[in-house]
Amino acid sequence: MNSSLSSSHSWDSIVVGGGSAGLSAALMLGRARRRVLVVDAGSPRNRFAAHMHAVLGNDGTPPSALLAKGRAELAEYDVAFVDDAVARVQDADAGLLVTLAGGRVESARSLIVATGITDVLPDIPGLAERWGASVLHCPYCHGWEVRDRRLGVLATSPPALHQARMVRQWADRVVLFSAGLGVVGAADERRLRARGVEIVPDAVVEVLGEGDQVSGARLEGGRVIELDALFTAGAPLPRDGFLADLALARSELPGGLGSFLAVDQSGRTSHPRIWAAGNVVNPMVNVPIAMGAGAMVGAAVNGALVEEDFDLAVAEVDRATGVGAR
Ligand SMILES: Cc1cc2nc3c(=O)[nH]c(=O)nc-3n(C[C@H](O)[C@H](O)[C@H](O)COP(=O)(O)OP(=O)(O)OC[C@H]3O[C@@H](n4cnc5c(N)ncnc54)[C@H](O)[C@@H]3O)c2cc1C
Repeated sequence: MNSSLSSSHSWDSIVVGGGSAGLSAALMLGRARRRVLVVDAGSPRNRFAAHMHAVLGNDGTPPSALLAKGRAELAEYDVAFVDDAVARVQDADAGLLVTLAGGRVESARSLIVATGITDVLPDIPGLAERWGASVLHCPYCHGWEVRDRRLGVLATSPPALHQARMVRQWADRVVLFSAGLGVVGAADERRLRARGVEIVPDAVVEVLGEGDQVSGARLEGGRVIELDALFTAGAPLPRDGFLADLALARSELPGGLGSFLAVDQSGRTSHPRIWAAGNVVNPMVNVPIAMGAGAMVGAAVNGALVEEDFDLAVAEVDRATGVGAR
């Protein structure tokens, strides 16, 4: 049921991306009696992991089970789903035109971008196929499961120094593969060695193991370091290319994380009808934070539509009573 006032657009809001952020935004809007379309390409960032952790009430739940539960909850409300990818977004009269890869064109009064990121992984044989199982990025998500084991940290950029210090919280046998950093400065080396972190400067040329389980890292020169898990960071690539026509404002994130859509505290972009939430604006957020950000954006969009509905009503009354004509 749509309780908003006259609009020529099919949807109050289109949510692009049906992960934690997008479904949470859709839940807020659905419960606010908005007509919502969720367009989802079906590849959430954590699809490589069998279980999700540090998600209150869902610690250990498979990521796909949480999203399936979210979709089932949304069936109560006026929320429709289409399994497709958004290819293009353009301005339209008091709204937006959204073109899907399959050719369908939809129109909406507002858009929520919750498309997440792609992790561009280091190009080392044996690494990508173990991503999410024993090649890991986040100790809060998976550190407990590998506590007290032999852990490696493969540096890809300067924040790896912090990642190595962080991983030391979960195990006392930690090796930092530092080739991606160049020379480690004396002060950093002193700090790492003080807590027993071994620094290996040789490049890792292969990640070894059986199935999805890492057993070691082969170095340039042939030496093998035995490991039970390897932490690393992919380069985060926001999935926002379909917004290119609109030239939205972007900001450079600290730590060399790259250029992401700029949003205000409510998640609004530089376009008055477009909001964004989750990893697509911040690669550091985990599932609960993405859910919270989605809820915030859902409420912000409804709030903006509420005000627009009153503006439309006033204009309608003025037209009917001829106020504007006097
Ligand atoms: C291996 C791994 C394990 C992780 N484990 C955990 C964990 O244990 N606990 C935790 O809290 N966090 C974990 N995370 C982080 C978690 O994946 C993210 O925090 C979370 O997925 C962010 O949610 P999101 O909704 O922003 O994006 P996503 O979950 O990535 O959802 C985005 C959705 O948008 C869709 N999409 C993209 N482009 C388009 C388009 N053009 N049109 C339509 N749809 C599109 C995608 O297909 C996807 O379904 C893990 C991450 C990784 C890589």
